[in-house]
Amino acid sequence: MTAVAPARAGRRKLSPLALFEALATPHGVDRYLELVNPMLTVRDMRAEVTGVNRSTADTVTLTLRPTRQWRGFQAGQFVQVTVEIDGVRRVRCYSPACSQYRDDGRVEITVKAHPEGVVSQYLHANAAPGLIVGLTQADGTFRLPPQRPGKLVFISGGSGVTPVLSMLRTLCDEGYAGDVVFLHYADSEHDVAYRDELCELAAQHDNVRLALAYTAQETGDLHGHFGQEHLDAVAPWHAEAETFLCGPPGLMKSVRALYDAGGLTDRLHVEDFAPAAVPVDDDATGALSFGRSGLSADNSGATLLEQAEAAGLTPEYGCRMGICFSCTKIKTSGCTRNVRTGDIDADPDTEIQLCISVPVGDVTLDL
Ligand SMILES: Cc1cc2nc3c(=O)[nH]c(=O)nc-3n(C[C@H](O)[C@H](O)[C@H](O)COP(=O)(O)OP(=O)(O)OC[C@H]3O[C@@H](n4cnc5c(N)ncnc54)[C@H](O)[C@@H]3O)c2cc1C
Repeated sequence: MTAVAPARAGRRKLSPLALFEALATPHGVDRYLELVNPMLTVRDMRAEVTGVNRSTADTVTLTLRPTRQWRGFQAGQFVQVTVEIDGVRRVRCYSPACSQYRDDGRVEITVKAHPEGVVSQYLHANAAPGLIVGLTQADGTFRLPPQRPGKLVFISGGSGVTPVLSMLRTLCDEGYAGDVVFLHYADSEHDVAYRDELCELAAQHDNVRLALAYTAQETGDLHGHFGQEHLDAVAPWHAEAETFLCGPPGLMKSVRALYDAGGLTDRLHVEDFAPAAVPVDDDATGALSFGRSGLSADNSGATLLEQAEAAGLTPEYGCRMGICFSCTKIKTSGCTRNVRTGDIDADPDTEIQLCISVPVGDVTLDL
C-alpha cells in the first residue's frame, strides 16, 4: 500500500475568512471592511455613537451601539474606548452608567471634560451621532456580589456617579427590596449629571433614599464635604451594609479613612478613576535609555511612563494605573519594580506596563 505523501497530508484547507485574512496581510480584514462600513468588523469590536446629551456644562453622555461581538457587562465594570485624535489612537476607560439589563443592546457612558484632558475634551466638544469608536469587552471587579446584600450604600462624587448609578439602575430592574442609600457629591445642583434620573428612581422606589450633597451651594440634602455626620444622617446603619464608592481622590481618601477607622475596610468596595500618586524614589540611581528614539536620561525615580513623557516621548497610555495595558512596551534590558505589587523584573526582552513600573538602576526600553 502506498503511503500518502507527507506534504499532501499536511496541506490544510483554509476557511474563506482565513484565506481573506491571508490575502489582506499585513493590514487585516477589518482595515478593508471599514472602507465599506466601519461597523462591519470580523475581529475588532467597535461602537457607533447613536445619542449625545450634554446634561451639565462639563459632561457629555454618549449612547453607544456596539458591534455584534459585544457580550454585555455587569454593573460597575468599565470598558475601554479608543478614539483617534489628530491621527493618534487614544484609549481611556469609562464605566457604563446604564442598567446591565438595558434591552436595546446599547451602552451609555458619561464623560467629564477635564480641563487639560485630551480624550474627555475631544469627546465633549466633538462627539456626535455617527462617530465610530473602538470598544473592548467590559472588565473589572467593582461589581455587586451575586447574592445581593440586604443593605447598600452608594457614595459618589462628580463623574464617579457612573458605575454606582449603573448598580442602582440594575438593582431597580431586579426589583431589589433591600435598603439603599445613594449619597452623591457635587459642587452644586447644576453639576449633577444624572440629577433627574436619580430623583426619579428615588421617587419610584420606597427603599431608595437619595441624598445630594453640595459643596458650593447651601441648599440640598447635605452641605459640605463628606464626614461622619453625613453618613450618620443618611445611613446610620452603614456598618451592616456593603458600601460602593467612586469619586474624586479627596472623597475617596475621606471615606476610606472613616471606614478604616471604624474597622469596616472589608465592607467598602472602591473604584478609582484617577491613579494614586506614586511616591518618587529620591535615591534612584542609573540611567533610562530609550533604544528606538536614541534618547536617555538619568533615572528620576518616577514611573517609566512619566520619565518617557519627561524626555519628550508620547507613548500610548490609557488608565495610568495598570489596568488597561495600553502602555505595555518591551524592556530590552535592566531591572524594574512594579509599584503595585513590589515585584522585581530582571528579565531582558520582556513586556512591561510603563505606568506602574519604575527602573531599578539602568534600564533600556524599546521606545
Ligand atoms: C476604571 C475606570 C473607569 C472610568 N470611568 C470614567 C467615567 O465613567 N467617566 C469619566 O468621565 N471618566 C472615567 N474614567 C477616567 C477616564 O478614563 C479618563 O482618565 C478621563 O476621561 C481623562 O482622560 P483625558 O484623556 O481627558 O485626560 P488625560 O489627557 O489623560 O489627562 C489630562 C490631565 O487630567 C488629569 N486627569 C486624568 N484623569 C483624571 C481623573 N479621572 N480625575 C482627575 N484628573 C484626571 C491627569 O492627571 C492629567 O493631568 C475612568 C477611569 C478608570 C480607570
